[in-house]
Amino acid sequence: MTKLTDLTITPALEGLKTKQFSAVELTEAHIAAMETPQARGMNAFITETPDVARRQAKESDARRAAGTAGDLDGIPLAIKDLYCTKGVRTTAASHILHNFEPTYESTVTQKLFDAGAVMLGKVNLDEFAMGSGGVTSAFKPTISPWSGSDPAKATRQLVPGGSSSGSAATVAAHVAMGATGTDTGGSIRQPASVSGVVGIKPTYGRCSRWGIIAFASSLDQAGPMTRSVADAALMLRVMAGFDEKDSTSIDTPVPDYTKALGKSVKGMKIGLPREYRIDGMNPETDAIWHKGAAMLRDAGAEVIEISLPHTKYALPVYYIIAPAEASSNLARYDGVRFGLRVAGESLDEMYANTRGEGFGKEVRRRILTGTYVLSAGYYDAYYLKAQRVRRLIRNDFLEAFKQCDAILTPASPGTAFAIGEKMDDPVQMYLEDVFTVTLNLAGLPGICVPVGLAQNGLPMGLQLIGRAFDEETLFTAASALEKAAGFEAKPPFTA
Ligand code: GLN
Repeated sequence: MTKLTDLTITPALEGLKTKQFSAVELTEAHIAAMETPQARGMNAFITETPDVARRQAKESDARRAAGTAGDLDGIPLAIKDLYCTKGVRTTAASHILHNFEPTYESTVTQKLFDAGAVMLGKVNLDEFAMGSGGVTSAFKPTISPWSGSDPAKATRQLVPGGSSSGSAATVAAHVAMGATGTDTGGSIRQPASVSGVVGIKPTYGRCSRWGIIAFASSLDQAGPMTRSVADAALMLRVMAGFDEKDSTSIDTPVPDYTKALGKSVKGMKIGLPREYRIDGMNPETDAIWHKGAAMLRDAGAEVIEISLPHTKYALPVYYIIAPAEASSNLARYDGVRFGLRVAGESLDEMYANTRGEGFGKEVRRRILTGTYVLSAGYYDAYYLKAQRVRRLIRNDFLEAFKQCDAILTPASPGTAFAIGEKMDDPVQMYLEDVFTVTLNLAGLPGICVPVGLAQNGLPMGLQLIGRAFDEETLFTAASALEKAAGFEAKPPFTA
């Protein structure tokens, strides 16, 4: 029989239904995987919650016996430590929240638990989700299972991508069956791409942001990371939906995304944006992109060239708007309301001491940038200008979607880089997001599917971008791409 940790969610649910194994057995297999020295060496978990998992698994078996099982009943998941979980420490990978225990549950995790999902623990990320490698975490970097059979001992330790680093690492290594991620500028899709897993950032407003620690509120979205497109469809259906506690969540029905899987892409028009062929592009990235386009063409889609003329402004616009919103969102960490407090002689000194000690370097850099672009003399020149260009970027997509149904692009500029690289020059790190930030600015959905391995043996994914609230077309195209690519490579460390 297949090892329980080798199952993806869809067949595991079948196994639970047909009583081939219980939720307790499935969960114990994943807890055992989580507790191996090799898995612990990845530093993927900030907080392991085996007791919660065991309790939830037992309850799941009882529900299944009573015939009341939900859509994800008994499925062990990793939860990004940006989602508030009631009574379970939630840190955002920041020292300033190292001891924060929420008294409430995020809407998305509540929906997952209501559907029967089991929580293995809270997983690592870049501090406040600011980064592309998982390396800014106050709890030390996550090491990719692609680094070697014992990731902590590998001579070249690779990043799993970021900010959803622990989500990508645990799913890729078969420690968790799926994970929640969040995506402000690419934090689901870039780690999915460099870790060889599937990740979808749905349309802005599709999932509730309530209870997810805010980074940049007009860009943040929740989404699943899984080992198959079908699993992503299942998880997203549970995670999505209107929530009156989030004024930006949209009251529109959530379709059954699994129905979009395996449909023919015949007649579907796939656009390749000419501006994504950037200067100095890694030839292997370009090659896999064209290979992916050929796969969709062979499956019956029509591939056309399109133009998104304002693409080159996306990164600078993102790195004005995201820090601006972050500087405002992070003002609440003042030593009074949450987490860390470092005493001082006066109130102002207490604020300064707390924030100086509590935030890491990248977070401080974002707060400074954000405060600068919002300051009286510079607001018009930077922030307002960036908001205007943001609209132009969105308009580019609206124009493009008059010609095509989905857009295919690379998801990351290259394969996983090593921990330590790109760390002295923030701009090098920011460039990791060049293919992903555009659609956060436009509010559109994007899915990343693993397509192949580069010559260095590391995974590469491709991104499909869709119209607002048309995740179904993305799932149809992504499942066609998944089928054609037949990506089955496993990392050297697999539980
Ligand atoms: N890497 C980008 C940043 O650092 C995006 C992060 C994210 O999507 N959370 O801002």
